[in-house]
This record gives sequence, structure tokens and C-alpha cells, in this order.
Amino acid sequence: MRPQPEMTVAAPMNSMSANQGTVDGRTHYDVIVVGCGGWGLAVLKVLSDMGLRVLGIERHEICHNLRRYMKHMVMHSVLSYMILDPEDAIVARKGDEYHPLIEELIQSYSDFAAKFNLPIKTHQELVDIEGAKDNFVLAVRDSEGRALRLKAKRVVLATGSYDEPNLAGIPGESNGSVQHYFHEWEHIKNKRILFIGGGFSSADGIIALCPRNQILWVVRKSSDAVEKMLTDQKTVWGQPDAQLVNTEILTDSQVTSLENNTAVVQTPSGETTWDYDLCYMLIGHKPNQGLCTRLLNGNLDFNEETFEACERPGVYLVGALAKKHLEHIGLTHNLCPDNDGVRYIERIRSAMQKEFNCNRT
Ligand SMILES: Cc1cc2nc3c(=O)[nH]c(=O)nc-3n(C[C@H](O)[C@H](O)[C@H](O)COP(=O)(O)OP(=O)(O)OC[C@H]3O[C@@H](n4cnc5c(N)ncnc54)[C@H](O)[C@@H]3O)c2cc1C
Repeated sequence: MRPQPEMTVAAPMNSMSANQGTVDGRTHYDVIVVGCGGWGLAVLKVLSDMGLRVLGIERHEICHNLRRYMKHMVMHSVLSYMILDPEDAIVARKGDEYHPLIEELIQSYSDFAAKFNLPIKTHQELVDIEGAKDNFVLAVRDSEGRALRLKAKRVVLATGSYDEPNLAGIPGESNGSVQHYFHEWEHIKNKRILFIGGGFSSADGIIALCPRNQILWVVRKSSDAVEKMLTDQKTVWGQPDAQLVNTEILTDSQVTSLENNTAVVQTPSGETTWDYDLCYMLIGHKPNQGLCTRLLNGNLDFNEETFEACERPGVYLVGALAKKHLEHIGLTHNLCPDNDGVRYIERIRSAMQKEFNCNRT
């Protein structure tokens, strides 16, 4: 059995600084976990419990990607599906079936990292990985551009899939009036706002903005599918009071140009145009393509039993980064029993047990 990791970072939400994150000079680890969203934190906890020398590195703050969503957004999933610590106060207060606000979830994950003294260096971004299994060298950069090299026998990538927006490939989609993330919105009023994309992010955004703005929502989906999604929004998605006002919906339609703040829309009955002040194109996001190419030749395939990358032995993929290949995945894995995500964390636990010949669970 290996000694417990000595380097720890335990800090309340919003107070982790680069200094706190660099609490010793160690540069050799058994496993480095890259990315400290829900999945990265969960994997760190499990591997720490096995007695491995682990380190989590995070380019910003814990749960950075969740912080890029609307902070008052109600999560689709209920607490029991996402919580990492079954003893978290929020479960006692609100119950398993509660749909948390995103800010409550971030608080819960930050508390989790602090409670279990998870070893994390924040404000450290992975830029590249050299070497091979047992002798990886991670090139890392801090927020001031200083370089650091860390060694690890194995690397777990938990960097999520929210780095780059999907684009539609139409003229004008990269102009300054077109946003690809929905975040701060309270200040927006009296605007003509175009939403493109038929997912829950669009519905969330429209519900938030429609009382004080004029909305056009263009979706490829049929009207039945949109109707169903809005019903789900009120029930499954946990927004019983959701209402659409000041909103026109063009279903079975797509935008073909966004140039000069005018949307050209192809509808079943022909082409129409709509002048907009602001457009949200919310058609999904993907991982950092440059990083994926450098690390894995752009190949995110992995062994579904062990999570090991097909392209690079010794590198493992978890969480949203690996999502595409799994039939179902929680927001994170959940350390509570009776949750589907637990299956996935068991796989990485047993894979690492074999790799490091650990007996402890
Ligand atoms: C609006 C919205 C609502 C959602 N609601 C739900 C829901 O209700 N239920 C659900 O199950 N899922 C939901 N999801 C999906 C959910 O966000 C993800 O499945 C989940 O956050 C994935 O967790 P993760 O730990 O894999 O990645 P992330 O939470 O994305 O964390 C990745 C972390 O890695 C860090 N990172 C990235 N690159 C580097 C690097 N090079 N070096 C160091 N650190 C790096 C990032 O800063 C980030 O902190 C939602 C998504 C969106 C967009």
C-alpha cells in the first residue's frame, strides 16, 4: 500500500488561489487528474482513498465550466444523481429529489474538495503531455504563463466538453452579436434576440429573457418535438413555472445567414428575414480540439471497461470528455450507491487497482 498523499488543498468556494494550490514542491505522482469538475473531483477522491499519490490540476477554479452557465439555472438532474458526498448538508436540507441551482451544486462540489482535502493545484492548465505510460511529463502553465513540468505514471483527463462551441457553418456566425454561451443575462432588456438550437439551453435562455425582450426561436425540430421539450422543461427539468411570452417559434426551420444583424431563415413555407440585436447560437459544445489533437491525435475512443484511451496507453478519459461513447452518464459519477454513475467510477477504480496493484478500496 502506498502512503496517503501529503499535499492537500482545502479551501472554501471562491477562495482557492494559485498560492494555496501550490502547497509543496512535489513533481512526481502516481496519477495526475486533469480538470476539477465533478468527475475530476470524484476520481481524485477514489484514487486518494486507494493510497495513490495523486494530484488534480485545474486551469481556473474548481468547477470552472459549471460557472460558465447561468448561475441561477435549475439543474435538470436531481441531487441524488449528482451529489458526490451523501452527507452534504444540501441533501439533508432539500432531499434527494431536489433540482439544485447550479450555484448550489458548485458549492457542494467545493465543499466536497475541502472536506476530503483533495490535493488540487488550481490555475494550472495542461498544455501537453510528453512521454509514455509510467513516465509521462505534463507541460503545465499557470495563469501568468509560467511553465511547470509534472511527472506522472498515469493521467486521467476529466477536462469536460465545454471548451469550444459547435458552429453551424453559416455566414456571420462569428460576428460580435452572436453568442455561443448563455451566461450573464439579467442586464439584457428591450432587445430583439434570436435563439438558434432546439436544446434545453435555448429553452432556459428564452424563459429567462422573454419577459423583457422580443424573441425569435429557430429550431430544426418539429412543433411536436418542441412542445414535448417545453413540457419536459416544466416537469423533468424542474421549472414548473416556465412560461414563454413575446416569443415566436419557427419549427422545421434553419438559419442560413446571420450577416449584418439580419437572420435569413429557411422555413417550410419559404425564406424569411428577421433583424436581431443579439443572437444566441446554442447548438452544443465540444472539447478543446487543439489539446485533443496534441494529446490523442484527436481520437477520443477509449476502452469502456477501463476508460483507457485507445490512442495512448496510460491516459484515461472520464466524464463529459468521454460522454459520447457511453450510453448514459451522470453529471458526474455519484459516490452514493444506487446511482448509475457509480458503475463508471467502479471501472476506473478497478482499472487503477490493477495498474498499481493496490489492495485497498
Ligand atoms: C446548461 C447545461 C446544463 C446541464 N445540466 C445537466 C444536468 O442537469 N444533469 C447532468 O447530468 N448534466 C448536465 N449538463 C452536462 C454537465 O455539465 C456535464 O455533464 C458535467 O459538468 C461534466 O462534468 P465533468 O467533470 O466531466 O466536466 P466539467 O464540469 O466540464 O469540468 C471540466 C473541468 O476541466 C477543466 N479543464 C479543462 N481543460 C483543462 C486543462 N487543459 N487543464 C486543466 N484543467 C482543464 C475545466 O476548467 C473544468 O473545471 C449540463 C450542461 C449544460 C451546458
